[in-house]
Amino acid sequence: MAIERTLSIIKPDAVAKNVIGQIVTRFESAGLKVVAARLTQLSRADAERFYAVHSARPFFKDLVEFMISGPVFVQALEGEGAILKNRDLMGATDPKKADKGTIRADFADSIDANAVHGSDAPETAAVEIAFFFPEINVYSR
Ligand code: GDP
Ligand code: MG
Repeated sequence: MAIERTLSIIKPDAVAKNVIGQIVTRFESAGLKVVAARLTQLSRADAERFYAVHSARPFFKDLVEFMISGPVFVQALEGEGAILKNRDLMGATDPKKADKGTIRADFADSIDANAVHGSDAPETAAVEIAFFFPEINVYSR
């Protein structure tokens, strides 16, 4: 499998729970490297643009409100099959359906406050990394 990069967001619920480090440790333990990272506050316009693909969904307004409710920790992660690996570590969107030992099973409270975002494909990963990290801010090591 190829070395990939993916965009991870530790969402406001998990940041508020003070578990940034515990979640990052899961990525690192699985062999993913943090190649860019920032704690930031999304504006409403940022959140609407980031989640534009979901703009027609009934939960869009709630999703945007939630994503701007507090700071988020955004990271670009790099490693073998990073996109799928991150999705596996995250678990299902609904934490009630997430496998035991996944980030969402262990740290998420509900389908909207579900602790983490992860890119779902190479195309979205590229767009999402560029959204938060202009190329100059991503470091290979
Ligand atoms: P993800 O890729 O697993 O994050 O899931 P999606 O891309 O399908 O949805 C994006 C985000 O929208 C999810 O992580 C949830 O925070 C939220 N979301 C998705 N489906 C629902 C839903 O049915 N109800 C609510 N309230 N939020 C949802
Ligand atoms: Mg998604």
